[in-house]
Amino acid sequence: MEQTMLSARPDPVGIEAAAPILSLIVPVKDEEEAIALFVARVAPVLDALRDPAGGAVGWEILFIDDGSQDATLAAICAAHRADGRIRALSLSRNFGKEAALSAGLDHARGAAVVPIDVDMQDPPEVIGAMLEKWRQGHDVVYGVRRNRLSDSLPKRMTADLYYRAHNWLSMDKIPEHAGDFRLLDRKVVDVIKVMPERNRFMKGLFAWGGFRQTAVEYDRVERKVGETKFNYWKLWTLAIDGITSASTVPLRVWSYLGGAIALAGILFAVFVIARTVLFGSDVAGYPSLMVAILFFGGLQLLSLGILGEYVGRILVEVKHRPIYIVRERIGDL
Ligand code: UDP
Ligand code: MG
Repeated sequence: MEQTMLSARPDPVGIEAAAPILSLIVPVKDEEEAIALFVARVAPVLDALRDPAGGAVGWEILFIDDGSQDATLAAICAAHRADGRIRALSLSRNFGKEAALSAGLDHARGAAVVPIDVDMQDPPEVIGAMLEKWRQGHDVVYGVRRNRLSDSLPKRMTADLYYRAHNWLSMDKIPEHAGDFRLLDRKVVDVIKVMPERNRFMKGLFAWGGFRQTAVEYDRVERKVGETKFNYWKLWTLAIDGITSASTVPLRVWSYLGGAIALAGILFAVFVIARTVLFGSDVAGYPSLMVAILFFGGLQLLSLGILGEYVGRILVEVKHRPIYIVRERIGDL
């Protein structure tokens, strides 16, 4: 009885019928000028996509308003009124891009999901190539920046350093110079959705999932409007999040380092004792004493600090707070 009532339920918006093939998820923070430009640029590209039979590809754009303080939400609402395929979640405050992406993955309906930046640094034309690879059977098609000329030299160098450090320390290798711009098959999205951690370093989660991954290259252009939301401090925090969530090497290294230093200490003690027995004691030794105290003091503080980084993250995880809070939904979500 209940079944028939359910199926008889009028479905004016056609949610069941209209589950799209392709979902774009677009985290936005204070991007009021970018929204309309983004839609004007991306919608025609998506409309021009064809499936192998020559039919149009059903799509949706899902904005995640990550606690914007400006008129971003109004711009999104206007876009939604003009085109119902544009929908949005507005979060209760700024949760950060990683959390916003999680919100997007949780609410996207597409068989393929593509996170993309609103500033048009990720050219939407690449999505066609991604779909092509997806149809050939790849589950993750990540975009690799052919060049990073749009980034400043220090940014390029620190990014390079980070990818190296991450991949050296972690078993789950993240592809170098691949951002969040990538196509994810539904089964990958479903795996990421059930990953319970609060610390959402998305690139790490994508890599951990495995599946059949491949790359498409693209040129990353400069931001069209607005300005970057990531300063070096935020990037540094993101880097620590990435490494601590993917690797325990920084914790384990102290056992080996401690072991090596203890061994050296024992050898030195033997030497000092033998020398004292053979030649007697001279009072000198202040410099070596001072060096040893400062060196070991610094080393201990450093190792404690690294321990603290992990303990702090354990605290965040056990609190089990939600990753994001939805304040408002625009469109049926
Ligand atoms: N973003 C977000 N929440 C934040 C910071 C950024 O949703 O706390 C969005 C931002 O609006 C943009 C995307 O993440 O769509 C990438 O940000 P940005 O272009 O500033 O990063 P960059 O390209 O400089 O690395
Ligand atoms: Mg950008």
